Amino acid sequence: MLPSLLGLTKDHLATHLAEHQQPSFRCDQILDWLWKKRPASIEEMSNLPKQLRDHLSQNFSLYPLTSARELGSLDQTRKMLFRLHDGRYIESVLIPANPALYGSKSDRLTLCVSSQVGCAYGCKFCASGLAGFTRNLTAAEIAAQVLQTEILAKERIDNLVFMGMGEPLANLENLLTAIELLTSDWGLNLGARHLTLSTSGLVPQIRQLAHHPRQIRLAISLHGATDEVRNQIMPVNKKYPVDTLFDALHEWNDNKKQHLTLEYILIQGVNDALDQARILAKHARSLKAKVNLIPYNTVEGLEWKRPAISHCHAFRKILSDAGVTATLRLEKGHDIDAACGQLRLHQETQEGLIVTAESKATKIS
Ligand code: SAH
Ligand code: SF4
Repeated sequence: MLPSLLGLTKDHLATHLAEHQQPSFRCDQILDWLWKKRPASIEEMSNLPKQLRDHLSQNFSLYPLTSARELGSLDQTRKMLFRLHDGRYIESVLIPANPALYGSKSDRLTLCVSSQVGCAYGCKFCASGLAGFTRNLTAAEIAAQVLQTEILAKERIDNLVFMGMGEPLANLENLLTAIELLTSDWGLNLGARHLTLSTSGLVPQIRQLAHHPRQIRLAISLHGATDEVRNQIMPVNKKYPVDTLFDALHEWNDNKKQHLTLEYILIQGVNDALDQARILAKHARSLKAKVNLIPYNTVEGLEWKRPAISHCHAFRKILSDAGVTATLRLEKGHDIDAACGQLRLHQETQEGLIVTAESKATKIS
């Protein structure tokens, strides 16, 4: 498989063209096609000489993703299933406006993107972790989720959240290139403030990103306010316990203007005790972070349940009474396997790419 042209930054493309004796203005022409005009093939880049188009076609592919399936949902959330060149699948979810969660009031459409195929971190509530890690996405595969969704949906995406499959900070090099492709004026030209990275808490990478020049937002998948609770559901907490994580988050705060978000899935009898809410409130206040509470979304093969909605409200009230901005996300897309990783898990299981304990049992019976 040839590398995608979409994975090249302006500097890389300029170097490639200079090595092939092309005048420098060709670089801007090609970038304009890739990110603005969006042709169906390299052949359609009509202001490039035939010889250059042939050279590009022989050395690069154009789009790295193929649309495999698109599912609508009752609340307008749309889930895109993309097939990769090696037959694997990733998903991106298009979510209509919810300005209370990310970004400013004028924001309309959010895309939730994936950063890896599967995930190595094995959080106990998560479909992406269930089948283990397959591979990192390339920078082109990350950025093309946005470009190709815009082409398919015929809409402009305003916000990005890296809350799809995978741990973005475990694929940092490709992620940083993708951020350059997505935020540069020659690329997709999204404002960095409209990008939210979500991480399970990889401390060295958080510290590194705290010094990144762009004003990207950060969300932390916390899901437990103490080591005792967090250790039970997120193995990463053994490596980076709560105190170590919060030291890194203070370093982030010292260097960034945007407030952090703490994500907290509510799982009945696991992390939803009201004393967790009190400790969570202290953490959030010390960081001036807001909290998103997400009732657990049932994952096939996992036995946990979401708490009663009245309990979720009681948990939220403790936070707001302590002066913390807390939203209870009655999440969108519940009817189309909303929790990230679920749709891909179904598709790959059907095709025999993943054999989960559950599907093994089905095959035997
Ligand atoms: N690896 C990164 C980003 C992907 S997962 C991280 O962990 O932050 C991001 C989010 O998906 C989680 O924080 C949670 O908000 C959501 N999620 C995963 N499994 C879920 C489930 N079963 N129910 C509800 N939300 C879930
Ligand atoms: Fe990986 Fe995030 Fe899922 Fe944990 S929650 S398994 S880090 S994708």
